[in-house]
Amino acid sequence: MSAAKYIGIDLGGTKIAGILADAGGEVLHQEKIPTRTEEGQEKVIARVFGLIRTLLAMAGTGEVKGIGLCSPGPSDLKAGIIIEAPNLKWKDLPLIALLEEEFNLPAVLENDANAAAYGEYVYGAARGRKDLIYLTVSTGIGGGIIINGKLVYGRNYSAGEVGHMVILPDGPLCGCGRRGCIEALASGSAIAREAKALLLKEHQRAPGQVGLLWEITGGDPERLTAKEVGEAATQGDPLALSVLEKAFGYLGVALGNLVNLLNPEIIVIGGGVAALGPLLFRPAVRAMEATAFAHMCRDLPVVPALLGGEAGTKGMVALARQKIPAGV
Ligand SMILES: [Zn+2]
Repeated sequence: MSAAKYIGIDLGGTKIAGILADAGGEVLHQEKIPTRTEEGQEKVIARVFGLIRTLLAMAGTGEVKGIGLCSPGPSDLKAGIIIEAPNLKWKDLPLIALLEEEFNLPAVLENDANAAAYGEYVYGAARGRKDLIYLTVSTGIGGGIIINGKLVYGRNYSAGEVGHMVILPDGPLCGCGRRGCIEALASGSAIAREAKALLLKEHQRAPGQVGLLWEITGGDPERLTAKEVGEAATQGDPLALSVLEKAFGYLGVALGNLVNLLNPEIIVIGGGVAALGPLLFRPAVRAMEATAFAHMCRDLPVVPALLGGEAGTKGMVALARQKIPAGV
C-alpha cells in the first residue's frame, strides 16, 4: 500500500489551517495558527512555510507528494498566482512558485470556496454524487460548482461566483460595488444590516416597546450580528423571524436559478450562517421550489455541509492527490 501523503492548507484572513493526510483523506495531523495579516505579506508567507514545515516533519522522508493551498479572492489557478486577496491585502503573488521553490514539492492553488466544494464532494455531504452546487453562507457568500465530478472553472478560472448573482437589480449595495447580489441580501452581514435598520426604525416609532432582539443587543443595535438575529428568531422574535425569512427567501430564488441552470443532484450549504438550520433551509427550499421547475426540485436534497471548518483543507488534499501524480 502506498504511503503517499499530502498537505492541505487553507489560508484565510484570520487563520491558517493545515492538515497532513494520507491518500485516502485520513487526517494524520492538523495545525491552526493566526494569519496576522497586519504583520505584512512576507511574515504571513513565513508563517505558512513554518506550518508546512511542522506538517512535513510529521511524515516520513519522501512520503509527502504535494501541497494544496486555497485562499480567498481571485487567483490565476493555472499559473499559481493569487491575483487579489482583499482580506490579506495581497496582489499578484506567485505563491505556488514560492512554495515549490521552498519545499521542492509540487503545489496546487485553488479558490477557497472551490476547495470546500471539492472537500464536501470527496469526503463530505455530497459524497457519491457527481453534479453538485456548494454554497458557503457566512460574512459573505461564496460557492463552487462541480459537474460530472469536475470543478467548473471557466475562461478566467473564476466560475462559481454564486454570491454575486444579482437577485434585485436595485437592491442594497454589495461589497463588489454592484447592487442586489445575493451576498448583499442573504449573507451574515446583510442580515445584521437589515435587522439593525428595522430595529432602529421600530425604536424611533415606538421607543417604549422594545422587543427581544433589542434586548439581546443591550440597546445598541450597532453591534448586532447575524448570530444574534438567529438567537432571537429561535425564541420567536417576529422582527428577527421576518428578516431571516426575507433573506433566505432571496437565497432560495438564487438556488432556484441555479437549479434551472444546472439541474444538480444535491445542493450543499456550509458557512457560519448555515448553522441556523431550519431557519435557513425551510424558507430557502420553499423559494427554490417556487422558482425552479418542479421536476428538477423533486427529490433534490438541499443539505448542510458536513466538514465545517475542515472542508477547505480536506478539499485541498483531495485536489492535490488528483492533480499531482503520487510517483509511487
Ligand atoms: Zn456582489
